[in-house]
Amino acid sequence: MFSHIAQDIIDQRIIVDAPIQLTIRRLDQIHPQISGNKFYKLKYNFLAAQQQGKTTIITFGGAYSNHIAATAYAAHLFGFQSIGIIRGEELASQPLNPTLATAQQFGMQLNFISRKQYRLKDDAGYLTTLTTQYSNSYIIPEGGTNHLAIQGCREILSKDDLNHYDVICCAVGTGGTITGLIESSTSLQQILGFSALKGDFLSADVAHMTQKTNWKILDDYCCGGYAKTTPELLQFIENFEKKYQISLEHIYTGKMLFGIFDLITQNYFRKNSRILVIHSGGLQGKSSPFIIAKRHSKTE
Ligand SMILES: *Cc1c(COP(=O)(O)O)cnc(C)c1O
Repeated sequence: MFSHIAQDIIDQRIIVDAPIQLTIRRLDQIHPQISGNKFYKLKYNFLAAQQQGKTTIITFGGAYSNHIAATAYAAHLFGFQSIGIIRGEELASQPLNPTLATAQQFGMQLNFISRKQYRLKDDAGYLTTLTTQYSNSYIIPEGGTNHLAIQGCREILSKDDLNHYDVICCAVGTGGTITGLIESSTSLQQILGFSALKGDFLSADVAHMTQKTNWKILDDYCCGGYAKTTPELLQFIENFEKKYQISLEHIYTGKMLFGIFDLITQNYFRKNSRILVIHSGGLQGKSSPFIIAKRHSKTE
């Protein structure tokens, strides 16, 4: 299903002021709507749903979720109904933001629930209620992370990459993508994750999903927490985009590259390290009204 819609992605070498090699793998180019890592995370889940004869995809996300946007489009393309369970009942009475408007446009039914109820997103009882309510449905967890997502994310690295790169960097939200990278890496490679969220619970989550130990997740560059920004982060993104002509967003890829560039100035990476940076996409979220407001206020 997914293989024939994948577009060519390029590996882009960028020049930095340090004795290291930095290559950016542009997964953001793999598909205009099913962008970046979400393409790999959804692939085997949609295949399983199809093989099981399911007709509806149910999934979970916040108002700016790239996973919601990608799932809505994939469901539309492959002929499934889709239901998005969205955190925040107050959103039901507000105009839809671009992410949710796009999801709805591709046929996703949006169900807004309270934050309290949303915490049941992995509760077996609640999920059984959902599958009873929507017959013939296939549930994909929040952010898309499950073992089939990890299987898909193993394919981000090719055989050639295994002796070609010393360090592989990625952004981390729920940990599915980094787990796939870890699982497909060699023990000589180091997988370095940049958390979009504050706290070390993600390291515990990932430790449950893999037995390997050649990885680390840093939360030093989360800028205070999920979707939070600082003037330094926004300035970094603006400079980076201007210099390298590669778009970033402020929730995942912006924080990752902000972190990588800071680590470079601290000489964190060994001399002549070959570093592969996974650009996980997510650029649909760039039209966030919050960020547009921030950008404008800078020039006022
Ligand atoms: C969802 C997302 C991530 C996080 O991926 P996980 O597998 O949940 O860790 C990283 N980058 C972008 C752009 C995303 O949309």
